[in-house]
Amino acid sequence: STQVQLVSRPDGWPTAEDFRTVTVQLDDLGENQVRVANEFMSVDPYMRGRMSDAKSYIPPFVLGETMDGGAVGRVVASRSADLPVGTLVLHQLGWRDVAQADAGAFRAVADLPGASPSLYLGILGMTGLTAYVGLTEIAHLAPGETVFVSGAAGAVGTAVGQIARLLGAGRVIGSAGSDEKVALLKEKYGFDAALNYKTAPVREQLAELAPGGVDVFFDNVGGDHLEAAIDVMNDHGRLALCGAISQYNTTDTAEGPDNMVKFIKGSLSMRGFTLGNHLDKAGEYNEKMSEWFADGEIQYDETVVDGIENAVDAFLGLMRGANTGKMVVRTS
Ligand code: NDP
Repeated sequence: STQVQLVSRPDGWPTAEDFRTVTVQLDDLGENQVRVANEFMSVDPYMRGRMSDAKSYIPPFVLGETMDGGAVGRVVASRSADLPVGTLVLHQLGWRDVAQADAGAFRAVADLPGASPSLYLGILGMTGLTAYVGLTEIAHLAPGETVFVSGAAGAVGTAVGQIARLLGAGRVIGSAGSDEKVALLKEKYGFDAALNYKTAPVREQLAELAPGGVDVFFDNVGGDHLEAAIDVMNDHGRLALCGAISQYNTTDTAEGPDNMVKFIKGSLSMRGFTLGNHLDKAGEYNEKMSEWFADGEIQYDETVVDGIENAVDAFLGLMRGANTGKMVVRTS
């Protein structure tokens, strides 16, 4: 099995030297074990946090050991009656092309007619559920409200824009890092307005795009985006803090927003969340999303990088915005 390991903890931006690719000889299958040929593995921003040893909500990657993360693959050898050869499975043994463990580490999922199983790593999986939980449980989106989402052209962001609309939002505004992404948000994803945060300050652009203010802010970016959103929040507005990717690779001290008094004046509320505390919503989400998906109401993009040997590049690319929609690595 070809596997990717973390060998040093990055300070600031990770580099290729922080990782190594190794070949691991797998043992014979034990009782109740299965061997899975991974088809796709996920690279996600939260993995940057696990490369550091700072205390967090998920334990850090262990130096010199194979990293893990979401993956989908097919059972190629089995000593478990529950998971016969050929079963498509979703699991957490990514960063390797072949995974082997007790059957309990894998969950059987249905083959998707006419769609790639990688969608289980994105819109039909963790990132889609994150968008749904943030909008419903955390921000309590109500019909007719105006939503602003930062990082709108990414995996979570494209889901937020569409789910907000399907839940009855009024105006939906997004931000992204290129003119191509901004055009895509408006043309493919149904955003009413979008801005390129690299061409002018978010604060100026957002004020122009949200003349009626914003009721729900879904933040994937932090920093300048959060500050700009606070400026335009309507009274009783809610801010769901999902991510702060603008800060994941900086070594500078992050500056806080200069407009916090707006929380008092406007009775705003802000709440951070991690998906792990809301997995009880998965059933409800899967039900709703399968219906929307089957009805053709859901668009998606994936940026697919080929080969486990390019997984580190895929991860670094994700941090720089090389992806549109979900970034995945094809491992078969
Ligand atoms: P994305 O697909 O959105 O990929 C990351 C994107 O971030 C890039 O495409 C890039 O797009 C953008 N980006 C990178 N640097 C900056 C910057 N300095 N300023 C603005 N944008 C930047 O990843 P995900 O959809 O998987 O994750 C999105 C966010 O959600 C992340 O912050 C992640 O940590 C968070 N998250 C949180 C969860 C939770 O439980 N709270 C669960 C899942 C995700 P661009 O070209 O537009 O710059």
